[in-house]
Amino acid sequence: MLEVDFHTHTHFSLCGVHSVIEMLQEAKKRGLAAIAITDHGPALNSRIPPPFFDRLVDPVPGIKLLKGMEANLVSLSGDIDFPESKLPYVDIVLLGIHHKLLEHDDRAAYTSALIAAITRHPWIDIITHPETPDYPLDLEQVAEAARNHGVAMEINNSKILCDRFDVSCMKKAITVYKDIGCRTAVCSDSHVVNEIGGDDAVRPLVESAGYPQELIVTRNAASALGFIEERRKNKQNT
Ligand SMILES: [Zn+2]
Ligand SMILES: [Zn+2]
Repeated sequence: MLEVDFHTHTHFSLCGVHSVIEMLQEAKKRGLAAIAITDHGPALNSRIPPPFFDRLVDPVPGIKLLKGMEANLVSLSGDIDFPESKLPYVDIVLLGIHHKLLEHDDRAAYTSALIAAITRHPWIDIITHPETPDYPLDLEQVAEAARNHGVAMEINNSKILCDRFDVSCMKKAITVYKDIGCRTAVCSDSHVVNEIGGDDAVRPLVESAGYPQELIVTRNAASALGFIEERRKNKQNT
């Protein structure tokens, strides 16, 4: 079980089931120190009400609410759909490639688009599910760019748990990240309360790869919250 979960969805995303409060209550019951609510960016028709960002403050005592978004890569030149007006309020920004939001192209084009996004938007903290089969990436190049910008590559629990991704691809990706020496973030990507904080599906893969502990930003609560604070300067300087 994770101590801090950086990737969860509520019913503000079309694919989420529960409310922010329900997610926080369950995370607290499971003993987490904090969870990030990271509903999808507007290109996926999410409905995050503005007060979530500027008025909601830790509504469940005893657990920290980290505010975030899973933004979308929306062009081959690295545009993303994260609204920059929210930068003063967010703790964490994830970036993922999601189905049917990018024009059809090839591995080289998707790779350079993602690297352009990382380079152009220094407030991006984590690249989600980089092994997305529909949009193949050169993971070595992306991991290298991530390492150079302090960004973490996600190791996504729900994609393995729900059989969405192939285990051997995930293993290969973890080996690439390790060889490049970039940081990783193990996240649940939970869409339901019963998956919050879950890392069971991918923890054995990370352990058997012998991933250096100091490069796993989610290894404990202190390292996870330290990552948030370290990255905050990229949001404030913009
Ligand atoms: Zn995603
Ligand atoms: Zn997600």
